[in-house]
Amino acid sequence: MTIFAANFTTDPYWWDAAAPDATPTGELPESTDVAIIGSGFCGLAAALELARNGVRVDVLEAGPLGIGASSRSGGMVSSGQKLVLKGALDAFPPEKASEALADSRATFEFLQTLIGREQLDADLQICGRFFGAFTPAHYATLQNHAELLAQKTGIHARMLSRAEQRFLLADSSKFGIMATYRVAAVTATRIVTDSRLSAEWRARLADTGADTTIVDAGTRP
Ligand SMILES: Cc1cc2nc3c(=O)[nH]c(=O)nc-3n(C[C@H](O)[C@H](O)[C@H](O)COP(=O)(O)OP(=O)(O)OC[C@H]3O[C@@H](n4cnc5c(N)ncnc54)[C@H](O)[C@@H]3O)c2cc1C
Repeated sequence: MTIFAANFTTDPYWWDAAAPDATPTGELPESTDVAIIGSGFCGLAAALELARNGVRVDVLEAGPLGIGASSRSGGMVSSGQKLVLKGALDAFPPEKASEALADSRATFEFLQTLIGREQLDADLQICGRFFGAFTPAHYATLQNHAELLAQKTGIHARMLSRAEQRFLLADSSKFGIMATYRVAAVTATRIVTDSRLSAEWRARLADTGADTTIVDAGTRP
């Protein structure tokens, strides 16, 4: 007797499109120029950049390739909006805060360049984002967010009152909305996560032809 359906699985359904790869791809090297721990976006981005520049690089991964957060993400990409709205910037001294924002904006551009350069099949869409207000007080908070975004990131956020929102939204349950631009989504049409991008990235790295070995370390180094 089980409460689960016959086809129940604990694997995320988006791995059907691009699953982590458990196939060991090499032996631990005797030596290397750069050893990168982890085959998430951070590790793969660094490895690809190094490999493209002729550096011998080995990616050491404790689990199946792409098993981490990078193949589970919702795939939303913004340009500094979260840093501002979630208060993370408050933890930085002012000069570091503007550096962090500049980095975040540059990352947004970089992702588009990278996807284009490597021709990653990731369904990138520059699509904007809207935040619906659940209460009148929430609408006031969103208005404050719109001002913060304009001041700190230069991002234009458009506020639409409850009366105006029907031009954008066939839903009258919200108390107004904030619409922002310069937001992107990867793998938006086919699948809701980054697993496809992760798989594409791994393939490009394997294709570099440089002295690159992806090693399934088996155990955590
Ligand atoms: C459900 C979910 C939704 C998300 N949605 C978004 C989103 O919409 N937008 C967004 O920008 N971000 C989102 N994120 C966050 C984003 O996915 C992560 O910030 C990003 O993928 C981190 O990449 P990473 O390369 O640092 O880490 P990971 O992708 O986690 O890769 C780290 C890898 O290192 C390996 N590893 C760790 N320790 C060792 C060791 N000692 N030896 C060998 N290997 C090791 C792990 O097995 C793993 O494969 C989301 C995350 C989750 C979980």
